Amino acid sequence: MKRIRFHGRGGQGMKTASRIVGTASFLEGYIAQDCPVYGAERRGAPIQAYTRVSKNPILERGVIVHPDITIIADETLLDDRTANVFQGVYGGTITMINTHYSSAHVRERFGISGKIVTLDMTDIVLTQIGKPVLSSVAAASASKLTGMVTRQSLKEAIVRELFSVDIPKEVVKKNVEAALICFDRTPDIHIDHSEPMKEDNTFVKLEYSGPYLGTPSTYARGNTVLKKTGNWRLFKPVIDHERCSRCRACFVHCPHSCISLDTAGYPRIDYENCKGCLICLEECPKKVILKKREVREW
Ligand code: SF4
Ligand code: SF4
Repeated sequence: MKRIRFHGRGGQGMKTASRIVGTASFLEGYIAQDCPVYGAERRGAPIQAYTRVSKNPILERGVIVHPDITIIADETLLDDRTANVFQGVYGGTITMINTHYSSAHVRERFGISGKIVTLDMTDIVLTQIGKPVLSSVAAASASKLTGMVTRQSLKEAIVRELFSVDIPKEVVKKNVEAALICFDRTPDIHIDHSEPMKEDNTFVKLEYSGPYLGTPSTYARGNTVLKKTGNWRLFKPVIDHERCSRCRACFVHCPHSCISLDTAGYPRIDYENCKGCLICLEECPKKVILKKREVREW
């Protein structure tokens, strides 16, 4: 059996990624199981999703504690200790990280061992789809790393899963193109070892993993008012104050109360907490809020 654990942020498509890998594996003739764990139901909050793939009936349930493949779809999770991205990773685990940094750089920066591969998936989706939605590309990388899924089954699984949630045909096509690029660029490396399924695991067993895993952003230590959500951001909203009419629409609509008004009535963004949802940009009637891609210095 192969166990795949996806880490991402709410809204990036990790649940769909786990479903695509499950469907693609099923099309290849395997038995598959997938499920997400949301934690805080909030856009941008850390989430996990799991896929198990096997030739035999899958008796395990619940979170994957020791993954054979880990997909980290958002590099900012590496800095977030409550996300636990390396929890239960063993010597044989392959970890794929969505970043423009090299695997050697990431290994040195975070002091991690094991098989690390990196790929700038965000760049691929921004070019091919125009939006930072990572479901298809994350699924493509995971599928390649299992060594069990062909390009054809991946393609068919993406079409089935995205159509099932009413994604328009044109967008599905772009997702397939991005995914196939990602599939081809993911290294052809293999898992040497996978923990066998326990023989005595004959009934449903949900392993307890504690609230720090299930609700990371509302419960765990370090998530008080001192928790800053500015590092969730992929795009930074920047207001052109020269052209701002002081209508306050952005101030009213920011779901995170990150916009305040200065003494002259101009909006000011609290970048320590702005999570980059870009609702302010959408709501600005004058279109004077621009977005800039965040580039993190490690
Ligand atoms: S992007 Fe805009 S609306 Fe979203 S959190 Fe930041 S300031 Fe608020
Ligand atoms: S919505 Fe646009 S125009 Fe209105 S206050 Fe905000 S930035 Fe200025």
